[in-house]
Amino acid sequence: MSTYIPLALHQTDLTGGVRVPFVPPKGGEKFPEPVFPQKPDLLTDAALPGDGERHWTPSQIWHTFHGWAIPYFKSRVLPGDLHPIVAYLFTEYKCNLDCHYCYSYDNRVKGISEEVAKAAIDWLHDGTCRALALMGGEVMLRPKLVHKIIYYARKKGFFTYIPTNGRLLTPDWIDRIGDAGVSTFNLAVDAVDEKPGLPKALNPIRKQFEHLVKKQYRYGYTVFFNINICRNNLDDVKQLTEIAHEYKISTDYHINEMPLIEQPHFQRLGTRTEVQVEELPAKEHVDLVDVRDVVERIELADLDPRVGFFERLARRALKSRLAVFHEPRGHRPQAVARLDRAPAQ
Ligand code: SF4
Repeated sequence: MSTYIPLALHQTDLTGGVRVPFVPPKGGEKFPEPVFPQKPDLLTDAALPGDGERHWTPSQIWHTFHGWAIPYFKSRVLPGDLHPIVAYLFTEYKCNLDCHYCYSYDNRVKGISEEVAKAAIDWLHDGTCRALALMGGEVMLRPKLVHKIIYYARKKGFFTYIPTNGRLLTPDWIDRIGDAGVSTFNLAVDAVDEKPGLPKALNPIRKQFEHLVKKQYRYGYTVFFNINICRNNLDDVKQLTEIAHEYKISTDYHINEMPLIEQPHFQRLGTRTEVQVEELPAKEHVDLVDVRDVVERIELADLDPRVGFFERLARRALKSRLAVFHEPRGHRPQAVARLDRAPAQ
């Protein structure tokens, strides 16, 4: 959902060709701090009755009905033009990965502010919409914000949806967001193992995946694979579908084909673009061009300071190589080849 949607009620703002930034009244409010844990008995690693099987409780059934069916019926019968059923709240355009077909290539774009996110949810809540899908980029670059949004939206009765490539979805955040009441996780994977241009792979996030699947029955959320069908991953699509079947989770598919995916400007911009993943020490700025798996990198550095030294050395070397492959042209770098793609190989 665009942060400008509150202005969409005014026809002139839709047709004037000028986007006026939305500023919440009086500068807006921050979200309340989520209470955690709300269900401390579910935090244990020990087996609990009901683990491994779906048991839809009456409150979970009501939650889903309230999120989808009631807004749908209202949209059919209420007067007025605007009764959205599902809203997309783009919280983050940055990403820690770089899929070849993706529009989220510019890590300089600022994410949503807490004040605007809260105002957007409040505005939706004043209407009939009760399904809120976060969108990115990679939303888990800001896990604290995601936790707050899910906690707040669930308290207001929203069915909530988190899409993620899983790299930053640590078991601890799975528990926090599950405890806050998330309704479903879209785990985006295109391959079993990483491939050139297809970094969204299952094997690098096996630990997160296993935890996510295991805890879904306790917290009541669902998990599904979101798989892009590209010309270079057809075998992976079959394997991922079989794995989903084995783990009793759903799948959905997108077809990514030309000409949409042939966009030269979808190359990651710049080698110095940095983001900071929330809740890491201040020194842990992550260069998204060079380092893809933030979680593993931090674990390595934590294990042995010498590893961090060699890694930094390697990163400097990699940056030099990337500089060779990029030619400045105009106001921003234009990629002419990629280390992880066929021409570069
Ligand atoms: S994981 Fe890939 S598809 Fe998803 S936002 Fe990042 S670059 Fe785009």
